[in-house]
Amino acid sequence: MTETTSASSAPASSGGHEGNLITFDGVGKRFGDNVVLDNLSFGVRPGERVTLIGPSGSGKTTILRMLMTLTRPDSGTIQVGDDYLYHEERTGNLVPASEQHIRRVRRRITMVFQHFNLFPNMRVLRNVTEAPVHVLGLSKEEAEQRARELLDMVGLGEKLTAYPTQLSGGQQQRVAIARALAMRPDVLLLDEVTSALDPELAAGVLDVLRDIARTSDVTMLCVTHAMRFARDISHRVLMFDSGRIIEDAPPGEMFDAPRHERTRGFLQSVI
Ligand code: ADP
Repeated sequence: MTETTSASSAPASSGGHEGNLITFDGVGKRFGDNVVLDNLSFGVRPGERVTLIGPSGSGKTTILRMLMTLTRPDSGTIQVGDDYLYHEERTGNLVPASEQHIRRVRRRITMVFQHFNLFPNMRVLRNVTEAPVHVLGLSKEEAEQRARELLDMVGLGEKLTAYPTQLSGGQQQRVAIARALAMRPDVLLLDEVTSALDPELAAGVLDVLRDIARTSDVTMLCVTHAMRFARDISHRVLMFDSGRIIEDAPPGEMFDAPRHERTRGFLQSVI
């Protein structure tokens, strides 16, 4: 399962703002005096796998949280396909989308967190079926069939009746990945999903994600310090520093011939 996924050229565009599925346009965010995102603009095409790298505190997680509407920008526009999540008017007013609109976007995007965030009182199978039944309106049977397939795929077909606390961290994270995919998202957000795991357990989770990258066309936005994984799965890597993208390149270029001194320094510190 450890074969390298070829980071092929980015898929062709279809629809959305200039062909992007995700668009950040002039997005700013500060917490007090701390400028976290500084007039940030970038786009992600449908089916593209983009990895965000850079030092701690450079704003990477904030970007994912904005797509989940967990953090609100101060300025700028964020769009998913043709739908706005936040829209800055010409007057400079930031207009959040309506609740109904946000719900529609939220159905298209799921996130896997560093600390798994499984429902502790539910068995594995129910963790995976809960949202498809209650949010997508699938029947229990349909949701269970899909959940079994996904749990098989992540190597946990034998653990359907276990509770999260009976599983290792790596197994819990694989349940969280199955749970995210059960929503059939267009976009999968991965926020340092292996940083709470021992290296051996982390490797199992990364192998599952490599398989998903190889076999599905889900758009991925991934924050990680696992550079070999980033090289394997990404079409593009964005290097962040102080809330700005300082380098945007295919993984071969980013890792083998980074243009910025800051990128070289960062890569030497993590590899
Ligand atoms: P990264 O993912 O690159 O490590 P983050 O996006 O998590 O960076 O954080 C960027 C900066 O924003 C950090 O300095 C962090 O302390 C700050 N930050 C994030 N969330 C909050 C918050 N709710 N309140 C205050 N500061 C925050």
